[in-house]
Amino acid sequence: MSAGHGPSSQAQAPLVTAQMVRMALTCERELWLERYGDPALRGTLSLAAQTLIEQGREHEIAIQQAEFPEVERVPVESWEAGVALTRHALTTGEVAVLWHGCLEHSAPLDLTDRVFVVRGQPDCLQRVEYLGEPAYRPVEIKRRREPEEADWVQLDLYTWLLRQMGIATAPGELWLGMDDLGRPWGRLPHEYDEDRLMTALLRTIALLDTAQEPPIWIKQHCSFCPWQQHCHTEASQRGQVDILSGVGPTLRVNLEAAGLASVTAIAACSPDDLLQVRGIGPDTARRLHASARAWVEQRPIWHGSLPTPCHRAGWMFDLETQQAGEQNAPWCMGWCDSAGNTQIALLAPWANMETLTLPDGQMIILAPDVASLWTALDEAVGTGDEPIYHWSAYDRTVLRNSAPPKIRERLAPRFVDLLTVCRNAVSLPLPGWSLKDVAPYLGFPWPGGDDWLLAYQDYCTWLENSDVEALARACAYQRADVQALAWVWRWLVGQKTFS
Ligand code: SF4
Repeated sequence: MSAGHGPSSQAQAPLVTAQMVRMALTCERELWLERYGDPALRGTLSLAAQTLIEQGREHEIAIQQAEFPEVERVPVESWEAGVALTRHALTTGEVAVLWHGCLEHSAPLDLTDRVFVVRGQPDCLQRVEYLGEPAYRPVEIKRRREPEEADWVQLDLYTWLLRQMGIATAPGELWLGMDDLGRPWGRLPHEYDEDRLMTALLRTIALLDTAQEPPIWIKQHCSFCPWQQHCHTEASQRGQVDILSGVGPTLRVNLEAAGLASVTAIAACSPDDLLQVRGIGPDTARRLHASARAWVEQRPIWHGSLPTPCHRAGWMFDLETQQAGEQNAPWCMGWCDSAGNTQIALLAPWANMETLTLPDGQMIILAPDVASLWTALDEAVGTGDEPIYHWSAYDRTVLRNSAPPKIRERLAPRFVDLLTVCRNAVSLPLPGWSLKDVAPYLGFPWPGGDDWLLAYQDYCTWLENSDVEALARACAYQRADVQALAWVWRWLVGQKTFS
């Protein structure tokens, strides 16, 4: 069923949706900003976040096609029409499986005399025999393999709505991931918990009622939030400690308990003072102090030194990956020497290890498979022992998972994670350690686009239409990545004075 959300006949009644309840559990501030925030400060989701959301949609469609390939689409004109159709389908028991049914119930939920309209739209409602009677069970589908607390509350809400609508229910299920046959990798049973649901509903209502802005808690979920830029700006203007590298919610609480609630306060004390804070050891104390100083003084602060082997010139390496079965495998690799002379190799399934000159003059290697990509790198870097610098542990993981064993054995000892080296030596006044932030901060003039997803889309366009202009853009992105790495390495080894 597909349904639009048209004007409600109970437009004046406060509305609570499953999405709002989820949001209240994930970030109270996000729900509050959606209600009271200045829309001009609401940004757009990053392309990476949009892609993950799109992949979630595609995952759900793939699961649906694997589990229930026979689906009849029923367009509905409004949310109310969807609710009426859903109620009819479920009370008559005519439909064995209903996708995206519209559930709604109006009820007083708190101690006021208000009546709330509660809505939910489960991924799937499946008719089953339960305790000898026909009943419907809600199913929630997620691409990830680990459940989250909010998943269970979402299923609580669907079960509650079904019951309030007079529908017999069976225990719901959470379908996680996908196996080799395209079916759910895991089917976890749901245990209905009304207390858990009511607590979540009341918390949601309280947030929608309050004029007080909830605090900012920087966490992983922020990357998937349209308010991320606004919150980061606010957090750094307020000098919140969680803008500092390595400060998560637990350490923030410990720092606040010790009276160190701001970046300035941390910068003003000594690393030894920080050792008194619960959960902080000597390494963290040193880094945290340097990080706070970097923000306060707005300059790089050294808190360690470069290991001697990292002073040695070597190769700069980066790769771009795509999903290949359960793992990611490269579709592109780039490497350059420490002077910035760059080579790029691309996956082109029809090619036979050939070169192609792009309109902008770049010459690239076309490799027929992933093993050939690794071979191209292996041959280029030769049998010497110069380091092969890369940024983050991800490249090593991809090497381990996708390179032929002999090449893996040769290259792995030469791989040096420059991100770890950098973090162990210096703090920068930046919110993260993305190469796209670090290199420009250190003066690298990033040419062209800096979004991996756009580069990947350009690559796919070339595969589909032989569009060499699109390919040139994708390769320019890869070239910039390895040259940025070379820039950062040169900056690190060129620093003579440590503070
Ligand atoms: S950016 Fe983070 S803290 Fe701010 S509203 Fe979004 S999830 Fe919450």
